[in-house]
Amino acid sequence: RSQEVSQARIDYHVALQALQEQGTRMVCTGKMHTDRICRFDYLCYSSEAEEFVFFQSNLSVMLPNLGSRRFQPALLDLSSVEDHNTQYFNFLELPVAALKFMPKPVFVPDATLILNRFNPDNLMHIFHDDLLPAFYTMKQYSDLDGEARLVFMEGWGEGPYFDLYRLLSSKQPLLKEHLRNFGKLMCFTKSYVGLSKMTTWYQYGFVQPQGPKANVLVSGNEVRQFASSLMKKMNITAGEASDQYVVIFSRSTTRLILNEAEVVMAIVQELQMRVVTVSLEEQSFPSIVQVISGASMLVSMHGAQLITSLFLPRGAVVVELFPFAVNPEHYTPYKTLASLPGMDLHYISWRNTKEENTVTYPDRPWEQGGIVHLEKEDQRRILKSKEVPRHLCCRNPEWLFRIYQDTLVDIPSFIELLKEASKTKLSLRKDKASSTVHPGRVREAQCQTSVQTTKEAKLSVSWQIPWNLKYLKVRDVKYEVWIQEQGENTYMPYILPQQNYTFSENIKPFTTYLVWVRCIFNKNLLGPFADVLTYFW
Ligand code: UDP
Repeated sequence: RSQEVSQARIDYHVALQALQEQGTRMVCTGKMHTDRICRFDYLCYSSEAEEFVFFQSNLSVMLPNLGSRRFQPALLDLSSVEDHNTQYFNFLELPVAALKFMPKPVFVPDATLILNRFNPDNLMHIFHDDLLPAFYTMKQYSDLDGEARLVFMEGWGEGPYFDLYRLLSSKQPLLKEHLRNFGKLMCFTKSYVGLSKMTTWYQYGFVQPQGPKANVLVSGNEVRQFASSLMKKMNITAGEASDQYVVIFSRSTTRLILNEAEVVMAIVQELQMRVVTVSLEEQSFPSIVQVISGASMLVSMHGAQLITSLFLPRGAVVVELFPFAVNPEHYTPYKTLASLPGMDLHYISWRNTKEENTVTYPDRPWEQGGIVHLEKEDQRRILKSKEVPRHLCCRNPEWLFRIYQDTLVDIPSFIELLKEASKTKLSLRKDKASSTVHPGRVREAQCQTSVQTTKEAKLSVSWQIPWNLKYLKVRDVKYEVWIQEQGENTYMPYILPQQNYTFSENIKPFTTYLVWVRCIFNKNLLGPFADVLTYFW
């Protein structure tokens, strides 16, 4: 079928001739395999060899041309998870002359994005590792519009949430197993390989214990635009709910809340709000998103379903519950999401501290937290421990044992938490996006000095407002001045409301000072420093 489509849309002989004459052409971004995305003309794939093929001719282009460093360890990461050794991409090379002896290629006319999904069985991984990165990779390259073809090379089946991947483009995504249907050799007319990691905020603990990425580059703004784009495609309009309500996201197979009815009662009584229960086992994903997009609060056990908090309205509260012996500070994918600048969610965690309220499952298989397969000694140690120590991904038995416990939520301590939450304000949708405009540099900064006595001097510094300030309404404008005596490695910082100041404390005559000035909006939006001022006496 696809073959017919391609022949309708491109002239087969023109394509074949282009491949034969020019071979494959590749130009990439990125210095390292971990930040690289490559654009190809005529990248081919042999379903027989299960390898991508780069055809070399005098006219082919390979930038970067790494030689055999291309295998150290790979050309690029095919998933958004950094430097994972099961997610590497590379190609084989062949001279174009080899085409003569190969099966006739089938050409794919669509602009194609080739990637690995990281874990398409888990909703958190689907959003964080695949959907958001693919969405913004497609924004980065204008060829990858709403009609781009996505190809998933990790080798898994569709998985339970394939419909979500279908929302990224109007064309049906292809799985690795589908590629054989195109014949022995297929060639992508135009393709991009790899995913942007710009939107990811969490690392799963492959080399150090899990936690927020060291350098988060995404803000709530981009996450919310992605969320509204998906909602539009699911035909969901964020309902203007007349009343405020709380959503409990319940899990029905593992990591249960054992007294959910009591928890619901506590919320109703304490917050005077309606409570809606949702679960992935009972509702369609779009209907869950519909409910969450109007909620004032989302309450859930730690788990992948909490990724749906990216559909909450601004100002909503996320309450994440943790089973006994699991420290909320050590597992923060949802806290980090809620706390992204501009995400405007309030995050609170609750932790079961009462061992008598936990239900353990030592007899289950190891991947659901069973421990009976372990040495008696290790079992005893795990059962005695009151907190899972920090650990690496992914098979730590103590972690799995504790995270798959069921929990009887202690109602008095849960009510305390709700009280705290309602203090932080449950001002549904009143939270307007706060401005994130940064100040420009201060202008015309100047220094003047005057000597008072042999020991005392004054240093007058003045400057003009940043250029963009005159177009803005900023609540709080302050200036920060750093004065450093030349040769010293410390400096004196000052915060000032006005545009000039005369410093006399600690200013010595005939001493050279370096002076930096910058503007600050609303306490935390820092501008750049103006060029350093140096005063020579
Ligand atoms: N899941 C669910 N109900 C359950 C248990 C799991 O819907 O009772 C879903 C969960 O949201 C996730 C997937 O099944 O998408 C895998 O769950 P797992 O417990 O393995 O991962 P976690 O939630 O800890 O990330």
